[in-house]
Amino acid sequence: MNKPSYRKLRGYAFDPSFSSTIGRRQSNEVIYKIRWEETEPGPCGEYIEIIDYDPTKECFYEPVNLENNYVLADYGLSPSEGDPRFHQQQVYAVAMNVIAQFEKALGRKIIWSRTVEEEPGKYKHEFINRLRIYPHAMRQQNAFYSPDKLALLFGYFLASENWSGNNVPGSVVFTCLSPDIVVHELTHAILDSVHPYFKKGTNPDMLAFHESFSDIIALLQRFTFIPLVEEQIRNSRGDLLSPQNLLGDLAIQFGQALSSNRRALRSFLVQYDDEGNLVPVEPDPSKYHTLTDPHSRGGILVAAVFNAFTRLYRYRVADLIRLASNGSGILAQGEIHPDLVKRLSNEAREIADQLSLICIRALDYCPPVDLNFGDFLRALITADVEYNPEDEGGLRFALLESFRSWGIVPKDINTYSVESLMWKPLEEFFEDEDQVLALKKAIQYVFNPDIKRVYTSMDKASPKNDEVVKSMERILRENNRSTIFKESRKLSGIVHDMFDGKFEYFKENMEKLLGMDFRPIRYSFFDERSNQQVDFEVPRTEGINPVFQVYKCVPVIRHNSLNGNASKLLIMTFLQKAEVDLKNTLYQGYFPGDKYEMRGGATLLIDLATYEIKYAIVKNVGSSNRLKNQLDYAMENLNDPENAALLMQDAEPFAALHSH
Ligand SMILES: [Zn+2]
Repeated sequence: MNKPSYRKLRGYAFDPSFSSTIGRRQSNEVIYKIRWEETEPGPCGEYIEIIDYDPTKECFYEPVNLENNYVLADYGLSPSEGDPRFHQQQVYAVAMNVIAQFEKALGRKIIWSRTVEEEPGKYKHEFINRLRIYPHAMRQQNAFYSPDKLALLFGYFLASENWSGNNVPGSVVFTCLSPDIVVHELTHAILDSVHPYFKKGTNPDMLAFHESFSDIIALLQRFTFIPLVEEQIRNSRGDLLSPQNLLGDLAIQFGQALSSNRRALRSFLVQYDDEGNLVPVEPDPSKYHTLTDPHSRGGILVAAVFNAFTRLYRYRVADLIRLASNGSGILAQGEIHPDLVKRLSNEAREIADQLSLICIRALDYCPPVDLNFGDFLRALITADVEYNPEDEGGLRFALLESFRSWGIVPKDINTYSVESLMWKPLEEFFEDEDQVLALKKAIQYVFNPDIKRVYTSMDKASPKNDEVVKSMERILRENNRSTIFKESRKLSGIVHDMFDGKFEYFKENMEKLLGMDFRPIRYSFFDERSNQQVDFEVPRTEGINPVFQVYKCVPVIRHNSLNGNASKLLIMTFLQKAEVDLKNTLYQGYFPGDKYEMRGGATLLIDLATYEIKYAIVKNVGSSNRLKNQLDYAMENLNDPENAALLMQDAEPFAALHSH
């Protein structure tokens, strides 16, 4: 007999509090359809391991066995707040759903890893088989991702003593039963596996990005549940911005349990005005300049994405509304027709699908360090052009409009258009055509075995491009995540050595392309507060060869929406670290050892059919401007002990971010 493709498991779509009314119970209790895998009691599968130890009660709860016949036959255990085994099942279902969604969008497997310091100054990048998930990790109003332990920890707590929302005063609220919270925490972990440097607060957008990206995925994810979307569309008569609509509300039970006058932990489509009435959230471009704490600043990005969502939705359903209203565009009083509910829900679902695919895929079009919201917009636009060259549905246009209305406009572009927002291929980086040609050849030389002879005279080491190509093919064929990890590390090493050799010949151009600088780096800027010119010099690293990292080297297969054609891409990230000595400067006395680690580098996307660089996304390590901004930002926040902990790369940045 063939293995089944899917496993069906029952669970909540919102959270348990939502089932408290009869009408909602039906839409809240849904079936999660997840990719089939054999599991051990826990559940414990290929990617995750649920460990139900409760340190408060000092006990292990009995783990659920999903392979048990009765459990299998009944789509898992039925939703129950009182049965820890159901909690485990719910967390497993939600988490596996999100992992599948990311893998589909990224065209590759999610691989957990972490960097460990083997001995002082010596780091090792190690593969971690399973992310550990603790559904009852603490008695606290908190849940977080721990990069250090590679684990998700969920708390539980008593609801406030007042009647609030659907919570019974003093009842227990389990954060692990809120899919929003589970998706949010898991997204932190996945984002960290793709971009390990995004948890470093080098600018005000960085931690805000981690938060907002996790919220965006959590909110979009629930549109996959048809009954839930239909119910919400019915209740709000098709208007996403109606106060009746809960699709823009995150962690409803958690928020209501914190205080009686909260609608949810965070709401992105509606908000209370000064008189306490619920009104649609209006774009406010000034907020991007004034809000600094990671949650409220992150809220701007979520709002911008959801503003694009509502714009698209309104645009796409206008014809349906006209048809249903005899051309007036204003629906008659009362419930809307069930057929209309279905059609409207379908539109909303399709938009959510497309948006989440593009948001996830945009991660591959981000710089490796020091991301800001403008960069993310450029990544979104580029990812969307790649996926959907014609923009039939108007997604790009909606993103452009909504991000502008929220004041998120990248600084260094000439016009606010798709063309100028897209990241640039090589040609637009260099004015001199000869430089472009030389660099192109250098890149092709690294990857294309057919042209090795042309360059052998320049290459001191033996050409390894056959190995590169074979290694990429092995990775694309392989299914075992541990083998993929090992092979990718090997590939990065080979590519590193090949580029290393090239720096001799293409020094400045290669450095410019990869955001690196191997001469002594000179930073120079004017500090307004002290009215002084500030100069730093970072000497060239000792040794013959420059020191840099090929952090990532992953081949992926991508399909586009137009003809379904598959193309092969290689995504690489290059990183260089410059250690800036702050002694005897106005920055002395703030950072450990008076050293600041400045990082730069690039993400390169290479078309594996032609070995041409499609995009280069660069953050120059030698940028005086970036260093000034980073130091100023750190100084501002170091005065505040809470922020300082976040910025100083505390081992548990997300624990501090999420505590209430
Ligand atoms: Zn978070």
